[in-house]
Amino acid sequence: MIGIWILGDQLSQSHPALLALEQQLGPSQARRQCRILLVESSSVLAWRRYHRQKLVLVWSAMRHFSAELHQAGWSVDHLETDRFSEALPGWISDHGIRQLQLMEPAERPFRGAIERLSLPIPVQWHASNAFLWSREDFAAWAQPYKQLRMELFYREGRRRFSVLMEGGTPLGGQWNYDQANRKAPPKGLQGPEPLTFEPDAITGDVIAKVERLAGELEAAGEPGLPGLSQPFHWGVTRGQALAVLEHFIATRLDGFGPYQDAMVGGQPTLWHALLSPYLNLGLLGPLEVIRRLEEAGQERGTPLASLEGVIRQILGWREYTHGLYWWFGADYPQRNHFAADRPLPPWLEGLGGSGMACMDTVLGELKASGYAHHIQRLMVLANYGLIAGLDPQAFTAWFHRLFIDGYDWVMQTNVLGMGLFADGGLLASKPYAASGNYINRMGTYCKGCQYNPKQRSGPQACPFNALYWDFLARHSDGLGRNPRMALVIKQLERIDAEELAAIRAAAAGHRGPGPSPG
Ligand SMILES: Cc1cc2nc3c(=O)[nH]c(=O)nc-3n(C[C@H](O)[C@H](O)[C@H](O)COP(=O)(O)OP(=O)(O)OC[C@H]3O[C@@H](n4cnc5c(N)ncnc54)[C@H](O)[C@@H]3O)c2cc1C
Ligand code: SF4
Repeated sequence: MIGIWILGDQLSQSHPALLALEQQLGPSQARRQCRILLVESSSVLAWRRYHRQKLVLVWSAMRHFSAELHQAGWSVDHLETDRFSEALPGWISDHGIRQLQLMEPAERPFRGAIERLSLPIPVQWHASNAFLWSREDFAAWAQPYKQLRMELFYREGRRRFSVLMEGGTPLGGQWNYDQANRKAPPKGLQGPEPLTFEPDAITGDVIAKVERLAGELEAAGEPGLPGLSQPFHWGVTRGQALAVLEHFIATRLDGFGPYQDAMVGGQPTLWHALLSPYLNLGLLGPLEVIRRLEEAGQERGTPLASLEGVIRQILGWREYTHGLYWWFGADYPQRNHFAADRPLPPWLEGLGGSGMACMDTVLGELKASGYAHHIQRLMVLANYGLIAGLDPQAFTAWFHRLFIDGYDWVMQTNVLGMGLFADGGLLASKPYAASGNYINRMGTYCKGCQYNPKQRSGPQACPFNALYWDFLARHSDGLGRNPRMALVIKQLERIDAEELAAIRAAAAGHRGPGPSPG
């Protein structure tokens, strides 16, 4: 008997082991000669206290996927267990499994963990179908460059997969319409409603399980699970994920571009696609999403700036951050360019209570759904971590636990690299550091805040302002050598000494004593 172990983020009906077996033996023999295993392991909570919505999403999606495979005639064992190491040996001997097949995990630590199980049978690895670029292809592309840039990678992706191309040139004559996509939100901006789903009986059981586990941890005097498990509105099947894609096309694709960077209180999703949870679980494949967007966008006459804008996120950023994760190597997660050492403030774990309206709004939305959109992640959360000098490893781990779509491969480059510049510029050409001025221009939060985004010193001064100038002052030598930072360093030099001292004292008060324990 052949065993296929499908991991929780590989819920793809085009799983390469299933396809290969069907091709080799034919559909009915493949089903007779194979057993499929899914393991719902709660041991993950021993080292990561995930957001409750994320646990519900992943475990419910796994249960639905098992049921769908079973309906399609496969023999499926869905085990609930504390540890993989307990589940595997018994399953192998009970079913006379002589060879185990797996798809290559997207996360570096997982392959090692599987190899350390020292299973008594041979293991065959299949290349991943979760990304368009294999690690080898990415390495071959990256090799000649001294400095990698997403834009060049993205253009190569457009050519290679023939997306939005007219022969050898980009559709519309331009590769990138980013400049058209940075509009500040006008007063009263109202985005479309996202598609939501009510939990079915399977999801209801998983919600009950997650609440029980959270209760057991708390009863044992341990930290519980962050976030709320209900209301839960995410899709948990491929059918629902496809419905989210179609709903995005029908309601938000045409308007995706202009307000991509906008932040509006009470509207956590705006025109964003809400596709990352499904892409990252394997319920949707990146190429099918890109092709569908391209086809639908052209049929609808979607403005090219919007169509190109969303395709760049998936064909460009998603592939690029994954490719870099493997390209940068195993020591990337330890980088700490600014030697940042401040512990995480307690309101991050408590998901609110900072007193800053922007932060508390984003944290409140995150607490409810496990989601925040890109600019909230980058310019509120990560920006704060960067300018306050939070420990990058602790902050990356926080992102990983709290986000509905968080996985090791996407965390490292997005949080450490793009958000915190902890890699010293391997990913971004300059730190994404910003004062309250940016948040005020691109968002609506400041109107309801006790602080004033226009003040940089004094009791009402926005903490982002004090932290921003203090960050520039702390690192002015290094930042001054970056040509893209030269202008702001000049502005720093123009602040008079007395005001700078007051700003820095306020920042020091806000940052509190460091470093992190341990
Ligand atoms: C600090 C920080 C943390 C992040 N954490 C995650 C994370 O845990 N998981 C995650 O998938 N993405 C993460 N991102 C990237 C991006 O913010 C999310 O993919 C996006 O917000 C998901 O929401 P959406 O589907 O509505 O995306 P949209 O904004 O509508 O974009 C469409 C799709 O493009 C892809 N995409 C866009 N930008 C990126 C990117 N930088 N990296 C990878 N994929 C991208 C996603 O698949 C997304 O679904 C992070 C970015 C930052 C700056
Ligand atoms: S004033 Fe500062 S802290 Fe308050 S919402 Fe605006 S940017 Fe955030």
